[in-house]
Amino acid sequence: MKILLIVSIILLFCVLTLLTQVGGIVLLLSFLTHRFIDARTASKGWRTVWKFSCFIVFYFLVGLLILPLLAKPFNRAPLPVFSQAYVKPLRAITWICNRHYVRKDMIRVVNEAAAGMQQEYPGSVINYLDAGFPLFNGYPLFPHLSHNDGKKLDLAFFYLSPDTYLPLNDAPSPTGYGICEEPRPGEQDMPASCSKKNWQYDLMKKLVPQSARNGFVFDSVRTKTLLGLLMAEPEIEKVFIEPHLKTRLGLTGSKIRFHGCNAVRHDDHIHIQMK
Ligand SMILES: [Zn+2]
Repeated sequence: MKILLIVSIILLFCVLTLLTQVGGIVLLLSFLTHRFIDARTASKGWRTVWKFSCFIVFYFLVGLLILPLLAKPFNRAPLPVFSQAYVKPLRAITWICNRHYVRKDMIRVVNEAAAGMQQEYPGSVINYLDAGFPLFNGYPLFPHLSHNDGKKLDLAFFYLSPDTYLPLNDAPSPTGYGICEEPRPGEQDMPASCSKKNWQYDLMKKLVPQSARNGFVFDSVRTKTLLGLLMAEPEIEKVFIEPHLKTRLGLTGSKIRFHGCNAVRHDDHIHIQMK
Protein backbone atom coordinates (compact mmCIF):
# COMPACT_ATOMS: atom_id res chain seq x y z
CA MET A 1 0.00 0.00 0.00
CA LYS A 2 2.84 2.36 0.91
CA ILE A 3 4.66 1.52 -2.36
CA LEU A 4 1.49 2.32 -4.31
CA LEU A 5 1.29 5.70 -2.56
CA ILE A 6 4.95 6.50 -3.33
CA VAL A 7 4.52 5.49 -7.00
CA SER A 8 1.38 7.67 -7.25
CA ILE A 9 3.24 10.65 -5.76
CA ILE A 10 6.19 10.19 -8.17
CA LEU A 11 3.77 9.96 -11.12
CA LEU A 12 1.86 13.06 -9.98
CA PHE A 13 5.14 14.92 -9.50
CA CYS A 14 6.22 14.05 -13.06
CA VAL A 15 2.87 15.01 -14.63
CA LEU A 16 2.73 18.34 -12.74
CA THR A 17 6.35 19.13 -13.67
CA LEU A 18 5.71 18.29 -17.31
CA LEU A 19 2.52 20.34 -17.61
CA THR A 20 3.14 23.30 -15.26
CA GLN A 21 6.92 23.35 -14.64
CA VAL A 22 6.62 24.11 -10.90
CA GLY A 23 3.56 22.06 -9.86
CA GLY A 24 5.70 19.08 -8.79
CA ILE A 25 7.91 21.25 -6.55
CA VAL A 26 4.82 22.91 -5.05
CA LEU A 27 3.40 19.44 -4.34
CA LEU A 28 6.56 18.55 -2.38
CA LEU A 29 6.42 21.90 -0.55
CA SER A 30 2.81 21.26 0.44
CA PHE A 31 3.95 18.03 2.17
CA LEU A 32 5.47 20.29 4.86
CA THR A 33 1.93 20.96 6.08
CA HIS A 34 0.97 17.28 6.36
CA ARG A 35 2.40 16.65 9.85
CA PHE A 36 0.57 19.74 11.14
CA ILE A 37 -2.71 18.63 9.53
CA ASP A 38 -2.37 15.02 10.76
CA ALA A 39 -1.81 16.21 14.33
CA ARG A 40 -4.93 18.37 14.36
CA THR A 41 -7.45 16.47 12.22
CA ALA A 42 -8.95 13.18 13.39
CA SER A 43 -11.03 12.34 10.31
CA LYS A 44 -9.13 10.77 7.39
CA GLY A 45 -11.50 12.39 4.91
CA TRP A 46 -10.95 15.88 6.31
CA ARG A 47 -7.18 15.31 6.35
CA THR A 48 -7.30 14.65 2.59
CA VAL A 49 -9.46 17.75 2.03
CA TRP A 50 -7.07 19.97 4.03
CA LYS A 51 -3.97 18.54 2.33
CA PHE A 52 -5.47 19.04 -1.13
CA SER A 53 -6.59 22.57 -0.20
CA CYS A 54 -3.07 23.42 1.04
CA PHE A 55 -1.59 22.27 -2.27
CA ILE A 56 -4.09 24.39 -4.24
CA VAL A 57 -3.45 27.50 -2.10
CA PHE A 58 0.35 27.01 -2.34
CA TYR A 59 0.08 26.44 -6.10
CA PHE A 60 -1.83 29.68 -6.77
CA LEU A 61 0.32 31.71 -4.36
CA VAL A 62 3.45 30.55 -6.17
CA GLY A 63 1.88 31.04 -9.62
CA LEU A 64 0.47 34.51 -9.02
CA LEU A 65 3.01 36.07 -6.64
CA ILE A 66 6.36 34.26 -6.83
CA LEU A 67 6.74 33.05 -10.43
CA PRO A 68 6.53 36.53 -12.02
CA LEU A 69 9.49 37.53 -9.79
CA LEU A 70 11.48 34.34 -10.45
CA ALA A 71 10.88 34.75 -14.20
CA LYS A 72 12.56 38.18 -14.36
CA PRO A 73 16.19 36.92 -14.48
CA PHE A 74 15.13 34.68 -17.41
CA ASN A 75 13.84 37.77 -19.24
CA ARG A 76 10.26 36.49 -19.06
CA ALA A 77 7.02 38.04 -17.95
CA PRO A 78 3.42 36.78 -17.99
CA LEU A 79 1.15 37.83 -20.83
CA PRO A 80 -1.92 39.77 -19.62
CA VAL A 81 -4.53 37.52 -18.02
CA PHE A 82 -7.15 39.93 -16.63
CA SER A 83 -5.45 43.31 -17.03
CA GLN A 84 -6.07 43.93 -20.74
CA ALA A 85 -9.44 44.04 -22.45
CA TYR A 86 -8.09 43.06 -25.88
CA VAL A 87 -5.34 40.51 -25.09
CA LYS A 88 -6.50 37.46 -23.16
CA PRO A 89 -5.79 33.75 -22.76
CA LEU A 90 -8.33 31.80 -24.82
CA ARG A 91 -8.64 29.24 -22.00
CA ALA A 92 -7.90 29.73 -18.29
CA ILE A 93 -5.89 26.49 -18.23
CA THR A 94 -3.08 28.33 -20.07
CA TRP A 95 -2.34 30.72 -17.19
CA ILE A 96 -3.30 28.20 -14.49
CA CYS A 97 -0.54 25.93 -15.88
CA ASN A 98 1.99 28.84 -16.10
CA ARG A 99 2.19 28.48 -19.89
CA HIS A 100 1.79 32.22 -20.66
CA TYR A 101 5.34 33.52 -20.14
CA VAL A 102 7.24 35.32 -22.93
CA ARG A 103 9.99 37.90 -23.45
CA LYS A 104 8.85 41.44 -22.63
CA ASP A 105 9.30 42.41 -26.29
CA MET A 106 6.71 39.80 -27.23
CA ILE A 107 4.20 41.37 -24.82
CA ARG A 108 4.82 44.74 -26.46
CA VAL A 109 4.36 43.20 -29.95
CA VAL A 110 1.04 41.60 -28.96
CA ASN A 111 -0.21 44.79 -27.28
CA GLU A 112 0.68 46.82 -30.39
CA ALA A 113 -1.10 44.30 -32.62
CA ALA A 114 -4.15 44.51 -30.31
CA ALA A 115 -4.10 48.32 -30.58
CA GLY A 116 -3.89 48.02 -34.39
CA MET A 117 -6.86 45.63 -34.38
CA GLN A 118 -8.89 48.12 -32.32
CA GLN A 119 -8.42 50.77 -35.02
CA GLU A 120 -9.67 48.47 -37.78
CA TYR A 121 -12.10 46.22 -35.90
CA PRO A 122 -12.99 47.71 -32.50
CA GLY A 123 -13.73 45.17 -29.81
CA SER A 124 -11.58 42.39 -31.31
CA VAL A 125 -9.76 40.36 -28.68
CA ILE A 126 -6.44 38.62 -29.42
CA ASN A 127 -6.78 35.23 -27.73
CA TYR A 128 -3.44 33.61 -26.98
CA LEU A 129 -2.77 29.89 -26.54
CA ASP A 130 0.50 28.31 -25.33
CA ALA A 131 3.50 30.62 -24.93
CA GLY A 132 6.28 29.37 -22.65
CA PHE A 133 7.14 28.47 -19.07
CA PRO A 134 8.56 31.14 -16.74
CA LEU A 135 11.91 29.54 -15.86
CA PHE A 136 15.02 28.29 -17.70
CA ASN A 137 15.95 28.30 -21.37
CA GLY A 138 15.59 25.01 -23.19
CA TYR A 139 12.93 23.63 -20.80
CA PRO A 140 10.34 22.15 -23.18
CA LEU A 141 6.71 23.20 -23.09
CA PHE A 142 5.10 19.80 -23.57
CA PRO A 143 3.92 18.84 -26.19
CA HIS A 144 5.54 21.58 -28.31
CA LEU A 145 8.86 21.04 -30.04
CA SER A 146 9.93 24.63 -29.48
CA HIS A 147 8.33 27.17 -27.08
CA ASN A 148 11.35 26.78 -24.78
CA ASP A 149 12.87 30.28 -24.68
CA GLY A 150 10.06 32.83 -24.29
CA LYS A 151 10.32 33.78 -27.97
CA LYS A 152 7.39 31.72 -29.24
CA LEU A 153 3.67 32.28 -28.93
CA ASP A 154 0.56 30.64 -30.36
CA LEU A 155 -2.54 32.70 -31.12
CA ALA A 156 -6.11 31.70 -31.96
CA PHE A 157 -7.69 32.59 -35.30
CA PHE A 158 -10.60 35.03 -35.40
CA TYR A 159 -14.11 33.65 -35.99
CA LEU A 160 -17.61 34.83 -36.93
CA SER A 161 -21.02 33.66 -35.83
CA PRO A 162 -22.44 31.30 -38.50
CA ASP A 163 -25.94 32.76 -37.99
CA THR A 164 -25.30 36.50 -38.00
CA TYR A 165 -21.76 36.71 -39.45
CA LEU A 166 -20.96 39.08 -36.60
CA PRO A 167 -17.47 38.86 -35.06
CA LEU A 168 -16.95 36.49 -32.14
CA ASN A 169 -14.17 36.73 -29.57
CA ASP A 170 -13.99 33.01 -28.92
CA ALA A 171 -12.68 29.96 -30.77
CA PRO A 172 -14.26 26.54 -31.26
CA SER A 173 -11.66 24.27 -29.68
CA PRO A 174 -11.83 23.49 -25.95
CA THR A 175 -8.01 23.58 -25.89
CA GLY A 176 -7.45 26.18 -28.63
CA TYR A 177 -5.94 23.50 -30.86
CA GLY A 178 -7.23 20.74 -33.12
CA ILE A 179 -10.24 22.33 -34.87
CA CYS A 180 -8.79 23.05 -38.29
CA GLU A 181 -9.63 25.33 -41.19
CA GLU A 182 -9.25 22.51 -43.71
CA PRO A 183 -7.85 22.83 -47.26
CA ARG A 184 -10.61 23.34 -49.84
CA PRO A 185 -10.68 21.36 -53.10
CA GLY A 186 -7.85 22.62 -55.31
CA GLU A 187 -5.84 24.08 -52.41
CA GLN A 188 -2.44 22.70 -51.39
CA ASP A 189 -3.05 19.97 -48.81
CA MET A 190 0.04 19.69 -46.62
CA PRO A 191 -1.92 18.13 -43.72
CA ALA A 192 -2.78 15.15 -45.95
CA SER A 193 0.78 14.63 -47.21
CA CYS A 194 2.54 15.29 -43.87
CA SER A 195 0.23 13.11 -41.79
CA LYS A 196 0.92 10.11 -44.06
CA LYS A 197 4.50 9.93 -42.76
CA ASN A 198 4.29 11.84 -39.46
CA TRP A 199 1.72 10.47 -37.02
CA GLN A 200 1.84 13.55 -34.78
CA TYR A 201 1.01 16.04 -37.55
CA ASP A 202 -2.74 15.44 -37.31
CA LEU A 203 -2.81 14.28 -33.69
CA MET A 204 -4.58 17.24 -32.07
CA LYS A 205 -7.43 17.00 -34.56
CA LYS A 206 -7.89 13.35 -33.62
CA LEU A 207 -7.78 14.06 -29.87
CA VAL A 208 -9.96 17.17 -29.68
CA PRO A 209 -13.78 16.85 -29.89
CA GLN A 210 -15.00 18.51 -33.07
CA SER A 211 -18.55 19.20 -31.85
CA ALA A 212 -18.12 22.99 -31.46
CA ARG A 213 -16.94 23.42 -35.05
CA ASN A 214 -20.40 24.28 -36.41
CA GLY A 215 -20.77 27.23 -34.07
CA PHE A 216 -17.92 29.14 -35.71
CA VAL A 217 -16.95 30.43 -39.16
CA PHE A 218 -13.28 31.24 -39.86
CA ASP A 219 -12.90 35.04 -40.03
CA SER A 220 -10.34 35.38 -42.82
CA VAL A 221 -10.54 39.20 -42.84
CA ARG A 222 -9.65 39.83 -39.19
CA THR A 223 -7.15 36.94 -39.13
CA LYS A 224 -5.37 38.36 -42.18
CA THR A 225 -5.28 41.83 -40.56
CA LEU A 226 -3.78 40.38 -37.38
CA LEU A 227 -1.13 38.47 -39.36
CA GLY A 228 -0.25 41.64 -41.28
CA LEU A 229 0.15 43.62 -38.04
CA LEU A 230 2.35 40.91 -36.52
CA MET A 231 4.55 40.55 -39.61
CA ALA A 232 5.07 44.32 -39.67
CA GLU A 233 6.76 44.14 -36.24
CA PRO A 234 10.57 44.13 -36.64
CA GLU A 235 11.01 41.75 -33.67
CA ILE A 236 8.91 39.04 -35.31
CA GLU A 237 11.13 36.67 -37.30
CA LYS A 238 8.79 33.87 -38.34
CA VAL A 239 5.08 33.19 -38.59
CA PHE A 240 3.87 29.63 -39.11
CA ILE A 241 0.60 28.89 -40.88
CA GLU A 242 -0.44 26.12 -43.29
CA PRO A 243 0.38 26.87 -46.96
CA HIS A 244 -3.29 26.63 -48.05
CA LEU A 245 -4.21 29.45 -45.62
CA LYS A 246 -1.19 31.51 -46.69
CA THR A 247 -2.46 31.32 -50.28
CA ARG A 248 -6.13 31.77 -49.37
CA LEU A 249 -5.42 34.89 -47.31
CA GLY A 250 -3.02 36.27 -49.94
CA LEU A 251 -0.13 36.51 -47.46
CA THR A 252 3.33 37.28 -48.79
CA GLY A 253 6.73 38.08 -47.31
CA SER A 254 9.74 36.17 -46.07
CA LYS A 255 8.47 35.95 -42.49
CA ILE A 256 5.63 33.60 -43.29
CA ARG A 257 7.00 30.06 -43.37
CA PHE A 258 6.02 26.44 -43.48
CA HIS A 259 6.94 24.75 -40.20
CA GLY A 260 7.80 21.34 -41.69
CA CYS A 261 6.15 17.95 -41.35
CA ASN A 262 7.91 17.19 -38.05
CA ALA A 263 5.75 19.78 -36.27
CA VAL A 264 1.94 19.74 -36.02
CA ARG A 265 -0.52 21.25 -38.45
CA HIS A 266 -1.00 25.00 -38.28
CA ASP A 267 -4.46 25.50 -39.75
CA ASP A 268 -5.96 25.63 -36.27
CA HIS A 269 -3.76 28.41 -34.84
CA ILE A 270 -1.02 30.93 -35.64
CA HIS A 271 2.54 30.47 -34.33
CA ILE A 272 4.77 33.53 -34.07
CA GLN A 273 8.37 33.71 -32.98
CA MET A 274 10.84 36.47 -32.25
CA LYS A 275 14.41 36.87 -33.45
ZN1 LIG B 1 3.66 27.34 -31.51
